[in-house]
Amino acid sequence: MLDQDFNILLWNQWMARHSRVSAQDALQANFIALFNPQLAPGLLRALSNTITYGLPAMLSSALHRSPLPLYGEAATPPGEAPVRMAQSVVMTPIDNPDGSRCCMIQVTDASNSVKREKMLLSRSEVLKRQVVTDGLTGVNNRRFFDENFALALQLAGREGSSLSLFMVDIDYFKQYNDHYGHGDGDRVLKRVAEALRSQLKTPTDILARYGGEEFIMLMSGLEPAEAADVGELLRESVHKLAEPHAKSLAGREVSISVGVCTRQSITEEDGRQLMAAADAALYRAKLGGRNKVVAID
Ligand code: GH3
Ligand code: MG
Ligand code: MG
Repeated sequence: MLDQDFNILLWNQWMARHSRVSAQDALQANFIALFNPQLAPGLLRALSNTITYGLPAMLSSALHRSPLPLYGEAATPPGEAPVRMAQSVVMTPIDNPDGSRCCMIQVTDASNSVKREKMLLSRSEVLKRQVVTDGLTGVNNRRFFDENFALALQLAGREGSSLSLFMVDIDYFKQYNDHYGHGDGDRVLKRVAEALRSQLKTPTDILARYGGEEFIMLMSGLEPAEAADVGELLRESVHKLAEPHAKSLAGREVSISVGVCTRQSITEEDGRQLMAAADAALYRAKLGGRNKVVAID
């Protein structure tokens, strides 16, 4: 409790403990003289309004993390600056019969609610990431792709850059599962995803698992011939995994087929066409014997 000249009238044990100023010292002191410049400007403003105009005030820990130099119970490790306690502060004017005015300041330790808020925030970040990530392979999922494809189309249209869409499908994967089991199938899916991911070049390139053993990739700014080369790199990167596939009719190892379509001067309506064309290219790669890249523009 302060009087209108900010002299301290009451100083309870809680304040003594957390400010590290004893009641004996506090009761002979002026609050401003004792603590400035460690007081937050917001607190000084609110205090002056409460005393001058009789207006109650509240400082929430969300906006004013730590208005007063108060500290938690835990000892500060040597060499480290003590950390100020998160607080919420309520100031109430009290008018005396003689016309003078006091200010009661109530301080609440907000550390726990701040901690809880932080935890909820980081948990919601994790959830947000999970929503757009494929649980098995860790690459983006179809939802992410669909949401970002539209944005990529807009961006390419605005910047006048080309867009290349790659459809990737593992060859004879049903036979792989039938022969080696689902567990090995999952393991291969993860390795294939990793091999494809290693071929991404810029942060705006997108790779997503589009279905069971199908992946989709989006790159911008490639000439059709360059896109064909990237398709070839994808195919090679999977071939180099050297995962034996005894039941494949396309070779002795696990392989992929790739269809890619590159389009210059993109409009937002081109999305469907691009998908259909890349899908048709993939179909031709499969028909052509698999473990192949077919590029069209
Ligand atoms: P193609 O060369 O024509 O692509 O033949 P395919 O056998 O790869 O194609 P098909 O579409 O007939 O079979 C796909 C198989 O992929 C079926 C399924 O067993 C397997 N598969 C899909 N998702 C998963 C998965 O999450 N884990 C595992 N282990 N297998 C999967
Ligand atoms: Mg398939
Ligand atoms: Mg397949």
